[in-house]
Amino acid sequence: MFDILIRSGLVVDGSGTAGFRADVAIEGGRIAEVGLLPGAEAATVMDATGLVVTPGFIDMHSHADFSLPVWPSAESLVHQGITTAVVGQCGNSPAPLLKETRDQVIRQMDASMGRAGEPLPWERWTSFKTYLEDLSRVGTSLNIVPLVGQGTVRAGVMRFGPGPANPEQRARMTAAVAQAMEEGAFGLSTGLIYPPGSFTHAEEIAAIAQPVGDRGGIYFSHIRGEADTLLTAISEAIQIGRESGAAVQISHFKVAGRKNWDTVDRALTLIDEARAEGLDVTADLYPYLAGSTALSALLPQWAHEGGKEAVSKRLADPRVREQMTVSMQSEGFAKDMEWDRVLISFAPGKAEYQGRYVAELAQEKGKTPHEWIFDAILETGLRATMVTFMMSEENRLRELRHPAIMIGTDGMGYAVSGSMSQGLPHPRNYGTFPRILGHYVREEKVISLEEAVWKMTGFPARKLGLRDRGLVRKGRWADLTLFDPTRVADKATYVSPHQYPEGIPHVLVRGEFVVRDGVHTGARPGVVLAR
Ligand SMILES: [Zn+2]
Repeated sequence: MFDILIRSGLVVDGSGTAGFRADVAIEGGRIAEVGLLPGAEAATVMDATGLVVTPGFIDMHSHADFSLPVWPSAESLVHQGITTAVVGQCGNSPAPLLKETRDQVIRQMDASMGRAGEPLPWERWTSFKTYLEDLSRVGTSLNIVPLVGQGTVRAGVMRFGPGPANPEQRARMTAAVAQAMEEGAFGLSTGLIYPPGSFTHAEEIAAIAQPVGDRGGIYFSHIRGEADTLLTAISEAIQIGRESGAAVQISHFKVAGRKNWDTVDRALTLIDEARAEGLDVTADLYPYLAGSTALSALLPQWAHEGGKEAVSKRLADPRVREQMTVSMQSEGFAKDMEWDRVLISFAPGKAEYQGRYVAELAQEKGKTPHEWIFDAILETGLRATMVTFMMSEENRLRELRHPAIMIGTDGMGYAVSGSMSQGLPHPRNYGTFPRILGHYVREEKVISLEEAVWKMTGFPARKLGLRDRGLVRKGRWADLTLFDPTRVADKATYVSPHQYPEGIPHVLVRGEFVVRDGVHTGARPGVVLAR
């Protein structure tokens, strides 16, 4: 007598091999049998005829650490079939918060994450350990793989100042990373377009990543440039892996900006060459042509020095505004931005900006796009976010076919009602995984179903060293996703993102239904995973 028996589904087991018809039995949260089990009985029997049964999806790039503590049910993620999320990305982890600098780091992170909903309970997160204990106590609907953020660590020790760390500062940062690794981090992340990551040289990152390499951890990077400087930025990430001994994950891989689109092959070749050299270098992507980040990410790097208050002061000064405009026109993220392709997605206190493009908003007010952006950043307390259309579909297809590329939402847990239903978050928060399965597998036939599932399950599990997840095999945890291959589809759009996908009726985490018949059950069986 099993707990649950899933009958007659097409098992695509996460290894990349062909799907096969089988029953899956679950007992004590784990997969007890996979095969034809005609005589088997169970407390709950589910007929999965017509459904594909796969391991739960592993989201390789998640910012759900900024939503889970206050919104642990993570509807927008679990409805996609995600059962495990890798958080602490882009240099931002909510812990450890060092005492002297705590308040400033919290203010900066609260602003830069552009999050809707309740304030986070930062008080106890002085160490990585207390933070993970808090997450465990809250109990989440999906499992968590935590990373420690280089930005959090460096701001803790050096605030938001530029320049290299002195030996004492470097030792403190390395010790903080080592401690987080001992307490459960799977690796270190950087966000090298955001302060203070943007102020940090590769050599310093490689030094503080040493404890990651020593412990078999992974260096995740939002690299220093995704447009003109993409190739050097990829090489830098690989070099940091080579020097520190850490495996490398290039986050939300993309080639941004029309005039750079033809560098995609060279960028992917850099990854191939590193792998041929024996380095464990992989990447992840979300299947959309627009990115999304804080509106303030358009400002030149020097404008971020000193953190939020210093930035606000600069934005209020007409002479500094002129200097910022000159910088933005000549370098960085804002340089080749097409303002009629930059959509304001979240603007606290200025809801009338949401869902509209910068070019038209500026024109309406009789301002230049730059002046409008400076005003909007100030008006929203630096919390406005944008969606920028900057990628090529043809490149997306190539990237998706590349054997080193996995899938990540770059999202967090939203919901269609309640405090996490505000603003216009990027549709990737709701639609990443079903969009791959519906649009790119079924409609465009870019990759096979088995290959897509491998990129979402077995492959990331292997990279993360999750030996009892990522495959539908006897003995592994019963994190499972059941979907209808003929119907699975994303529904979220840029102007109407708060919509769950279709065709993913059941999701189980550790043998418990988190989504059943398309409805979130309220269950929170997720755990913080140990490295
Ligand atoms: Zn990022």
